[in-house]
Amino acid sequence: MSEKTFYKGFTLLDGTGKPPVEDAGMLVEGKTIKKVGKAVEFEVSEDTKVVDLTGKTVMPGMINSHIHITMEPVGNPFALITTESLAKTALRGVKNLKKQLYSGVTYFRDVGGPDGVDIDLRNAVNEGIIEGPEFLVSGKVLTMTGGHGWPIGRECDGVDEMRKGAREQLKAGADLLKIMATGGVMTPGVEPGSPQLTFEEMKVAVEEAHKAGKKTATHAQGTTGIKNAVLAGIDSVEHGIFLDDEVIELMVKKGTYLVPTLVAPYFIVENGVEAGIPEYAVEKSKRVMDSHFKSFQKAREAGVKIAMGTDAGTPFNLHDKTAYELKLMADAGMTPMETIVSSTKTAAELLGIDENYGTLEEGKTADFLVLKENPLNNLDTLFNIESIYKLGKLVK
Ligand SMILES: [Zn+2]
Repeated sequence: MSEKTFYKGFTLLDGTGKPPVEDAGMLVEGKTIKKVGKAVEFEVSEDTKVVDLTGKTVMPGMINSHIHITMEPVGNPFALITTESLAKTALRGVKNLKKQLYSGVTYFRDVGGPDGVDIDLRNAVNEGIIEGPEFLVSGKVLTMTGGHGWPIGRECDGVDEMRKGAREQLKAGADLLKIMATGGVMTPGVEPGSPQLTFEEMKVAVEEAHKAGKKTATHAQGTTGIKNAVLAGIDSVEHGIFLDDEVIELMVKKGTYLVPTLVAPYFIVENGVEAGIPEYAVEKSKRVMDSHFKSFQKAREAGVKIAMGTDAGTPFNLHDKTAYELKLMADAGMTPMETIVSSTKTAAELLGIDENYGTLEEGKTADFLVLKENPLNNLDTLFNIESIYKLGKLVK
């Protein structure tokens, strides 16, 4: 028999977007939520442990849709990751996993790391060798020769090579494929706005992923590249800096998600060259920040599905500061409730894990946060979480 615990007296934010429930109760058996609702509606057996959470708010653990767990958020993460040993990179991953979990991220998606280290880290968590959130991995990013992210990527040119590259990642154990549609900020000599992989190349990668029942994400900043990726059937657009009305309409129609990662260029500009960030990255980030926020606002107003992701591992984008992204999304016009749903239910749907994760409902996994305040009144409470439960167990 698994251990049974009854949590009671808290304000419930279940992640679905429904209004909060006061004086709520939740019965957890093992790692599963058996029942959730008003505390008075529960009959609790004698062998059940009771935890009184009066005055606290309970919400699902955050799901971060865009992380680089092996990357260190220093001034120039690529320079570090391409010069140190894979063993050292893996050790950084171990440390970063703990930071993510202890700051309230109970599930995430890793969208690019070197040589399968991300895959080994995922397996190590699942096997109980190390502590961390569960997560999905992309393996190496698929990029054109010299394209964005090539230092941690598999360079592919032409449809046959792309098919091969895609199949290699799936063979190695990737849960999704990450495809580079445009240039970006952190790779020298590439422009964020310029298209990179062609429509045809992306289409075969999407085809291979979908055949295997996996999803695809694209790093996509410029309008033409985003459009190519969406038309190729991509499941999520990451960053989406230059969105026009046509591509937004297309995303709504095809159900393509946006993972804005507003904090990524924000921290680069905030910290600047003085902090050791390469000048090209600072200069490019300054140029795109305004459009980034505007594109996010237009997409939200048009009804594009938005999943929270931070791009943690990029300069000064720390592995224990996911809550900043919610704050920036709120600054850009989301209600606090929308930021929570985007970080729980919507992210779970994007990751394809919503059957078991993302909301606090009967039958789902008991991944949840106990907060000192209601985040609908103060999102800052997410920086100082009282306790974190993963798979029904107290981790912090
Ligand atoms: Zn990224």
